[in-house]
Amino acid sequence: MIPLSQGQVPASADAVIIGGGINGLTTARELGKLGLKNIVVLEKNYIGSGSTGRCGGGIRQQWTTKENIRLAQESVAMYEEMSADLGYQVFFRQGGYLMITENESDLPALRQAAELQNTCDVPTEFLQPEECLKIVPDLNISKLKGATYCPKDGTAYPFAVVWGYAKACHKLGVKVFIRTTVTEIENDGGRIKGVVTDRGRISTPLVINCAGPWARTMAAKVGVTLPNRQERHEIMVSESLKPFLDPMVISITNGIYFSQSLRGEIVGGIGDPAEPQWEDPADFDNTSQLRFAVRFAKALTEYYPRASKVRMMRQWAGMYDVTPDHRPILGGVPGLEGYFHICGFSGHGFMLGPVTGVRMARYITTGQPDDIISSLSLDRFEKGGIQADAFVVG
Ligand SMILES: Cc1cc2nc3c(=O)[nH]c(=O)nc-3n(C[C@H](O)[C@H](O)[C@H](O)COP(=O)(O)OP(=O)(O)OC[C@H]3O[C@@H](n4cnc5c(N)ncnc54)[C@H](O)[C@@H]3O)c2cc1C
Repeated sequence: MIPLSQGQVPASADAVIIGGGINGLTTARELGKLGLKNIVVLEKNYIGSGSTGRCGGGIRQQWTTKENIRLAQESVAMYEEMSADLGYQVFFRQGGYLMITENESDLPALRQAAELQNTCDVPTEFLQPEECLKIVPDLNISKLKGATYCPKDGTAYPFAVVWGYAKACHKLGVKVFIRTTVTEIENDGGRIKGVVTDRGRISTPLVINCAGPWARTMAAKVGVTLPNRQERHEIMVSESLKPFLDPMVISITNGIYFSQSLRGEIVGGIGDPAEPQWEDPADFDNTSQLRFAVRFAKALTEYYPRASKVRMMRQWAGMYDVTPDHRPILGGVPGLEGYFHICGFSGHGFMLGPVTGVRMARYITTGQPDDIISSLSLDRFEKGGIQADAFVVG
């Protein structure tokens, strides 16, 4: 059982965190570890009901910007210890990530990315197509031009991670309320005063907006404009098979990714350029689409022909919270004391979440500058010259 708070919300709190996904819960736990008392997490639905519970659980360090590489690398170090740290099995498995391409023109960028990752001590190597067969023996390499592989990348079970964090929060005295919607964030023009929920008001000097795809709507309540848009993505799950696939395979050519879960299922998705972006998450259509099932099955069986006899069992849709450079937005805003946001993770908030919570909790409690938080602050979009991450797949 995950211990959750019942009844009325408290009249006051030292910090209120909006959102019971990975970012809200890791931040709450880390703030609690740093000694902040009277922390409340408010979740409008259930734990993991946003993007976190709909994600593929993939965790990779193969990025093209230093910030993402370092956040992923530090998070992997946390995932390696997470089950023991939380006292909760999160099923982290380091089967690696094999990133493939069919385009000769991608090869310089792939090699360059591997070099950058190596300078950060991420053990990525560049592979020729035939070398991929050592990692995925039945992969169809007829169209491949090259790949990169990092054996330290992996997957974890998203619900177990948020349940483990919720349990750890409870141990520290953090109150996690589900089925509790924040309807207003109060401020006096210069500082945060409290939040209004459908179960009462909480007076607080500190609000952390971890509302995932709803973060933009929440930010608007205090006059902060986030450039985030919501994008629909689906996942397909097959029947269970004997273990045959160690890594997550991901193609930067057509955007498919697939891995095998510990239950033996093939789990994967594929991005669709035809998907619209939503400005208001309330309009989001989370029904499952045949178009996705067909696109995924076609791409999967091209790369892995043996999957053609496998039965697909279920699929679901969720939202990416996408920023113009596909990198998160972290920090606060000048002129509004006590307000912070941790959002905009596109398809990689599960893998970057653990250490983002650590860094943000430290930043919020000490005010000490953090180089990654500074370079991912909201004002980068005004300053211009933003550096987008390449190889955003999904
Ligand atoms: C199909 C799909 C596949 C993905 N695959 C991966 C992957 O393999 N690896 C990876 O790293 N990332 C992946 N992602 C992205 C990842 O899921 C997200 O980046 C991450 O989960 C974001 O976590 P979060 O805590 O910021 O937001 P969320 O998990 O969305 O949590 C926000 C929470 O806030 C709550 N909330 C919103 N408004 C309010 C309100 N007014 N009051 C109270 N509560 C509110 C919501 O109910 C929600 O539970 C995927 C996403 C999708 C959709």
